[in-house]
Amino acid sequence: MTNILISGASIAGTTTAYWLKRHGFDVTVVERAPAIREGGYKVDIRGAALQVVERMGIMDAVRARSTDMRIATHYDARGRKVATMDAALFGGRTGDDVEIMRGDLNELLYDLTRHDVEYVFGDSVTGIAEDGTVAFERSAPRRFDLVVGADGAHSTTRRIAFGEESRYARDLGHYISICTVPNKLGLDREEAVHAAPGRTANVYSTRQDTSAKALFMWSSEPLAYDHRDIDAQKDLLVKAMRGVEWEVPALLESVRDAADFYFDSVTQIHMDHWSKGRVVLVGDAAYCASPASGQGTSLALVGAYVLAGELAKGGGAAGYEREMRPFVEANQALGPANVKGMVIGSRAALWFQLKMIKLLPHLPGRDRMIDRIAGPIHRAANAISLRKYSE
Ligand SMILES: Cc1cc2nc3c(=O)[nH]c(=O)nc-3n(C[C@H](O)[C@H](O)[C@H](O)COP(=O)(O)OP(=O)(O)OC[C@H]3O[C@@H](n4cnc5c(N)ncnc54)[C@H](O)[C@@H]3O)c2cc1C
Repeated sequence: MTNILISGASIAGTTTAYWLKRHGFDVTVVERAPAIREGGYKVDIRGAALQVVERMGIMDAVRARSTDMRIATHYDARGRKVATMDAALFGGRTGDDVEIMRGDLNELLYDLTRHDVEYVFGDSVTGIAEDGTVAFERSAPRRFDLVVGADGAHSTTRRIAFGEESRYARDLGHYISICTVPNKLGLDREEAVHAAPGRTANVYSTRQDTSAKALFMWSSEPLAYDHRDIDAQKDLLVKAMRGVEWEVPALLESVRDAADFYFDSVTQIHMDHWSKGRVVLVGDAAYCASPASGQGTSLALVGAYVLAGELAKGGGAAGYEREMRPFVEANQALGPANVKGMVIGSRAALWFQLKMIKLLPHLPGRDRMIDRIAGPIHRAANAISLRKYSE
């Protein structure tokens, strides 16, 4: 097997391309967007994923582009500061963990591979025949030995090879929306948070960002909407946030003008197998842990490394599944647990959470408390020993 197609040029796709190429495969990547997708939100690289980045030789570049966030501040409905928290602890980062804008990471990964890998932008797989012939929306059909689906939580490759998304999607009972807004709060490497029962608003601005990102999360039954109708999705967000005070009404005004509006349910993907015939899935396409886990990027990086390594050493898709399954399960388990702390259901629970944040620096059992916040994610992020696959 030498000739591999990857669908999707984000974190999982570019990283798989890098490692496959390094192991001597011929790699083509098809990406639906017209170019590498810039911008986005901040993501974390933790634990084993740091080793993957290190082995790719881009750790210094990643650190140079880290968000450099300093602090997270909680505000009440009237805009008074209620509690502050160190940004790393707020983000569940410990030790060498690094936070970076997804677009910055993607650009670094793309730059690392662009000269050795064939990238086809503005196209999508539409069919995969048993003999490996792949049909595309625009390009002529081509034959590949293997197709890697790295096309995200709503993967087209998965739908073609494994069937409808609803068979694998596990709804965590929340929605998330994020977009760029003007930095009217004058945030400098800072997050500002306001929580109301069942609804949380968060605005942040990272290093070198003159604008800000507004992120909203709320608990909700599944919503019916047209995935292409952005205005209708903005209406749903406005409706969900109605009555939330602080800066939220002004933020929602800005959301109306946002060109990069993101809206989705907080959903995980659970599959018994990640490969079938000539198709194998990696990253969110195979095991989306949801933004609530904070581990989607690390799962994509580690999954790409292991998949390429197992293919190179002859372990194949079975070896990939065996190595990855416990790691994936540990990280997916974070999603349902974390989401409860991100969107708090009642006023009493909110009051308690803020009280704890305020008292944290002064509590005698401070280290134990910090471990309760950052410990689970740290342990899950390290729940795999990465093999050294020879090149
Ligand atoms: C709002 C939000 C906040 C998040 N916060 C964090 C965080 O704090 N920490 C963290 O670690 N992770 C976070 N994540 C998750 C993280 O972004 C993903 O888990 C990670 O990017 C997974 O990468 P991926 O390459 O598998 O999928 P994606 O990044 O979704 O990439 C899929 C790629 O495939 C392309 N594509 C889609 N369909 C097709 C097609 N038919 N043909 C060709 N190409 C296609 C897309 O354009 C895209 O480039 C967050 C996600 C969201 C949505």
